[in-house]
Amino acid sequence: MKVGFALLFWLVSAGAGLAAEPLRVAVSIAPQAWLVEAVGGPEVEVLTVLRPGSNAATFSPPPSVLRKLGRQAVYFAIGVPFEQAWLPALRKAMPGLRIVALQQGLVRIEGVAHAGHAHDFDPHVWTSVANLRRMAARIRDELIHLRPSESTRFTANWRMLDERLKQLDTELRERLAPHRGAAFMVFHPAWGYFARDYGLRQIVIEPFGKQVGPRRLMRLIERARRERIAVVFVQPQFSERQARLIADAIGGRVTRLDPLAHDIAATLRRAARAFANEARR
Ligand SMILES: [Zn+2]
Repeated sequence: MKVGFALLFWLVSAGAGLAAEPLRVAVSIAPQAWLVEAVGGPEVEVLTVLRPGSNAATFSPPPSVLRKLGRQAVYFAIGVPFEQAWLPALRKAMPGLRIVALQQGLVRIEGVAHAGHAHDFDPHVWTSVANLRRMAARIRDELIHLRPSESTRFTANWRMLDERLKQLDTELRERLAPHRGAAFMVFHPAWGYFARDYGLRQIVIEPFGKQVGPRRLMRLIERARRERIAVVFVQPQFSERQARLIADAIGGRVTRLDPLAHDIAATLRRAARAFANEARR
């Protein structure tokens, strides 16, 4: 009888461990996956729709990804251009799929032309620590809604993440405070929110990722000199040849930064360090 109870107990606890299917969550870009993984922990399995190295303006999800979307509990959108092309179709094809727009409720920068589209607002909301914190809270609420039994764990994970992001914000604020009002150049305008948060200015070389003509290039070099630009940011999805031309002409430096990389906290920290190390005093 004693052995029977022990066995029964073992079966029940083993069964409980196995019963916990991961909560399947889809996101558009890798920085969102980083957020969801931090809040969800091992309870959550994240599907990132945009492939690494792909352009967020022109990407179109392959059928293999679309098939997987049918098994997701929720899709966290963020407002990147490729969503506009196919999210409406996805909504029609999978009316049961829950879609949460993380960019909703954020204070957004208006009127930025973006590769392939002219947007009403700057879609790169994730280059702001303040925005990341708001989105993490939304993710926490959504995960708790989908799996209330893990509410304590999700809340504890979120609290740890939020503390990390708060520290990151303080660190970046201190590092960049001496450079308030200073400018940096970028080929693709992914750093508008970062600039806004820390009182910097983003000067865009060519928003659509096209080649710049010689006359415009000369004007950009003149402007870079006038603005005492020391750093030009490039990202792997766009050519860096012309960024190098400008940087060389002004004795500045090209810094490769991928705003679409998974660990967005590390990316933002690298951006702040590169800027502060190169900035002219
Ligand atoms: Zn972009």
